[in-house]
Amino acid sequence: MVSGKNTTYRLIIFTVPAILFLVTLFAAGCNSEDAASLDTDGFAVQRNDMVDHQIINRGIFDKNVIDAMRKVPRHEFVDEGLQASAYADRPLPIGMGQTISQPYIVALMTENLKLAGNEIVLEIGTGSGYQAAVLAEIVNKVFTVEIIVSLHQKSNIVLSKYPGLATSNHDGYYGWEEYAPFDRIIVTAAPDHIPQPLVEQLKEGGIMILPVGPPGFNQVLWKVEKIDGEVISSRIIDNVAFVPLTREVK
Ligand code: SAH
Repeated sequence: MVSGKNTTYRLIIFTVPAILFLVTLFAAGCNSEDAASLDTDGFAVQRNDMVDHQIINRGIFDKNVIDAMRKVPRHEFVDEGLQASAYADRPLPIGMGQTISQPYIVALMTENLKLAGNEIVLEIGTGSGYQAAVLAEIVNKVFTVEIIVSLHQKSNIVLSKYPGLATSNHDGYYGWEEYAPFDRIIVTAAPDHIPQPLVEQLKEGGIMILPVGPPGFNQVLWKVEKIDGEVISSRIIDNVAFVPLTREVK
């Protein structure tokens, strides 16, 4: 016969481990909630999904690029009405007929710049400022040029938190003579030929990444390297679509 006392002991023996087990399970489940509580801007889950699915899954492996894109709040670079789509797998309008590039293209171009952290980088085509911010997360000195005054002014606001980043409103076809030469140059609008002033402003051993071609999907993304004074161009991918590099100040 089982006494009442024994039943109580048995209950304790079986229920205490069961409760401990459930508590452990619950605590493990809370880890994702802890991560969410670190999500200070409400977009961390979307941002990490973007990096995992659109960037890493497509073969981008440079840790600097991956870390920078996990960090930069892409939704802050688009208008409020588009913030819900900020991490989608496509370019988005930023006004004045211009676009913020698709996340994968930003990652691909940045990875091909082969940045270690100490390079001086020139970007032509500030646009929203997103690409410039990704660069500023990786290197200490970024110079970015935008031809459209309203985009230049708007991007200045969101880029003001990057102390190593300087912006200018002029025709980037001519680079930025005052601070040349540059270790790296990235052009995010497509000229129909490789601008000679940019080649001249590239340091020996430097790398320039740029799309070249007519408007539409027939542009080629090029890597231009200056090796022993020689300019060597190699194709990265075909059939990219960037807005055209325009030539007059608006
Ligand atoms: N890097 C940008 C992409 C913007 S789209 C981003 O992350 O959002 C390309 C930008 O290049 C546009 O803003 C366009 O106005 C600008 N652009 C076009 N021709 C230019 C030129 N000659 N000099 C400087 N900027 C130019």
